This record gives sequence, C-alpha cells and structure tokens, in this order.
Amino acid sequence: MKTALITGVTGQDGAYLAQFLLGKGYRVVGLMRRSASSDVIGERLRWLGVIDDVELVDGNLTDLSSLMRIIQSCNPDEVYNLAAQSFVASSWQQPLLTGSVTGLGAANVLEALRLLQCSARFYQASSSEMFGKIQQKMQSERTPFYPRSPYGIAKLYAHWMTVNYRESFGIHASSGILFNHESPLRGIEFVTRKVTDGVSRIKLGLAKELPLGNLEACRDWGHARDYVQAMWMMLQQDIPDDYVIATGRTTSIRELCRIAFAHVGLNYEDHVKINQNLLRPAEVDILLGDSSKARTTLGWQPKVPLEDLIREMVDADLVRHRDKQRS
Ligand code: NDP
Ligand code: GDP
Repeated sequence: MKTALITGVTGQDGAYLAQFLLGKGYRVVGLMRRSASSDVIGERLRWLGVIDDVELVDGNLTDLSSLMRIIQSCNPDEVYNLAAQSFVASSWQQPLLTGSVTGLGAANVLEALRLLQCSARFYQASSSEMFGKIQQKMQSERTPFYPRSPYGIAKLYAHWMTVNYRESFGIHASSGILFNHESPLRGIEFVTRKVTDGVSRIKLGLAKELPLGNLEACRDWGHARDYVQAMWMMLQQDIPDDYVIATGRTTSIRELCRIAFAHVGLNYEDHVKINQNLLRPAEVDILLGDSSKARTTLGWQPKVPLEDLIREMVDADLVRHRDKQRS
C-alpha cells in the first residue's frame, strides 16, 4: 500500500485529492494546522465522507521541524504540497505571511525531503497566477511569467525552488501549473463560489444584491475533481516535469454571473452591484491555458464543462441554505 502525504488536506483540492487517492488504495496522511476552531476544520473532508479514512497530523508549513517529524514518521511515497495562503486579494493585505507560507513553505517541504534523504515523489501546487500580465495569448509551460500579486510572486518562488531541487538534488519533483478550478468545496471568498452562494441566497429570499468587483476579468475555469487527477498522474511519470493544467476556454465574470443566475430563473443585471472596494491594486485581466503537454504526455483531459460546474455549485449552495433554514 502506498502512502501519500498531503499538505493543505483541509482545503478544496486536499479534500478531493484525499478522496481520489483513498479510492486508489493509498494510505493518506493529511497535514492539518492547529486551529482554535478545530470542530469546523475538516468540513470538506466530512462533506466528501472521507474524514475518518484520512490520518490527520498536526503541523505547519512554516515549521520545518514539524514537516521533518511528519515525513519521518509516515515515510511517504508521494508528497503533495497543496497548503498555501491561496487567496490573491488577501495577499496584498498579508504579503509577508503569503511569502512565508506560499513561497518559503514549499521550500521547507523540499528541504525536509532533502535533509531526510527521503525518496518520496513531490508535487508542487503552482498556479496560473504566475502568468499574471500575460505574455502570450495562450499560456503553456514555455510562456514567460509576469506575476501581478504577492501571491503570484510567492508561487513563482516555490515553482522555481521545485525546478531547482529537481535539477540540483535529483528529487522527483513536479510542478502542476493549474489554472483556476472550482467546485462546491471552493472557498466562499473566490468569485465562482461567491456568485453561486449569492445566487442561492437571492433565490431563497435571504439577500437581494450581490456586490462584485471587476466583471470583465476572464478565467479558464475547470472542476477541481478533474484537476486533482492530473496531480496524481504527474507523480506516476518516470521523469518529473512541469505541466499546465487547463480547459483551454476562458470566460468573463459577467458571463459566469449570467449562467449562474439564469440557472435559477433570475437575471444577474437585477442583482449584481459593482463595489469599487473589490477592485484589485493590480489585475490579472485574462488567463487561458494550453494544456497540450498534459493531454499528450499524461493522457489527461478535463471532463466537466463550465456550465455543469456552475450548476453543480449553485445546486449545492441551495441545499446548504435550505438545510440551514430548516435547522
Ligand atoms: P485552499 O485555500 O482551499 O486550501 C489551502 C490549504 O492550505 C488549507 O488546507 C489550509 O488550511 C492550508 N494552509 C494554509 N496555511 C497553512 C500553513 N501555514 N500550514 C499548513 N497548512 C496551511 O486552496 P485550494 O485547495 O483551492 O488550492 C490548493 C493549492 O493549489 C493551493 O496551494 C493553491 O494556491 C493552489 N492553486 C489553486 C488553484 C485553484 O484554482 N483552486 C489554482 C492554482 C493553484 P486551513 O484549512 O487551516 O486554512
Ligand atoms: P484568482 O484568479 O485566484 O484571483 O481567483 P478569484 O476567484 O479570487 O478571482 C477571479 C477574478 O474575479 C479576478 O479577476 C477578480 O478581480 C474577479 N472578481 C470580481 N469580483 C470579485 C469578487 O467579489 N471576489 C473575488 N474573489 N474576485 C472577484
């Protein structure tokens, strides 16, 4: 039985990846940071019905000693580094913490593997935010980076550390440059989930308006369940490498709103209100990924079209709010 260690196991991708690896017969160890609200932590794993099957261990990405202790005790075959301060907007409020967790945190995991001479395969959760102010119409592994936020910059550091540890120390380290991926388990501060949650509240009469920022930005959105499979596929390759994971279709926030509101018979123009405070100091206007390499080499392809993804998210939020109303 293979052992996988997942940092960020309580997040969206961590939960789906844990479920996926358990389904493949893995022993899954999940690093969880201590919190005073530990009763609500693990909610996503609970939602997927896998919380009892994951071995949760106490640690923090900023604490090298905790990482070394965990790696030593669970002796993983594969390490997936998904933990991060992952919200772009917050990265301007907490740039140093973002650098320390999202950037240096990845270096800590790599260092722990190197110092312990652990031969585990390593996956780094890199991000399309590294492309930022895009240098090519479609972004692939060969597109130059131009990050536009402290988050993107921290991810770029972690990305190059992954490449460097692969080249310097022969670590089987791969980096997945994943474009935005969403699900009913997406954090509520991200625009897709904010919209689907808002739509469900408006439909149920719990709210009238939905404040949003820039409606013209475009993202290449896929389903998180499809994307965690790509992470695993990367670590099954004999040779570690970097891969863009994307759908190849880009859609504006405005169109996202139109689809989500239309699903419950509403017109977004009646409810969406622009709030200038939600505009960002520097924007990533458009992202559009070229994942040909992953499709050819890994045999990966996205399965869920955007319309189905949004409908699934709206329906899940309607159920959540109806359940809350009943209780
Ligand atoms: P989430 O924000 O849902 O999850 C982040 C996870 O990191 C949570 O489990 C969080 O724990 C944990 N974490 C935060 N700080 C620390 C710390 N100091 N020590 C240990 N754990 C910590 O992110 P996603 O699941 O959406 O994304 C997974 C990874 O992929 C992230 O690195 C993200 O930046 C990256 N990524 C995501 C994309 C997306 O579209 N979703 C696109 C490209 C990259 P807690 O629950 O306690 O907060
Ligand atoms: P990101 O691509 O990782 O920054 O993912 P987000 O979901 O946070 O943001 C995607 C895009 O939606 C960005 O261009 C934001 O500026 C835009 N956006 C517009 N309104 C909002 C909002 O109210 N919240 C968030 N999170 N993003 C918004």
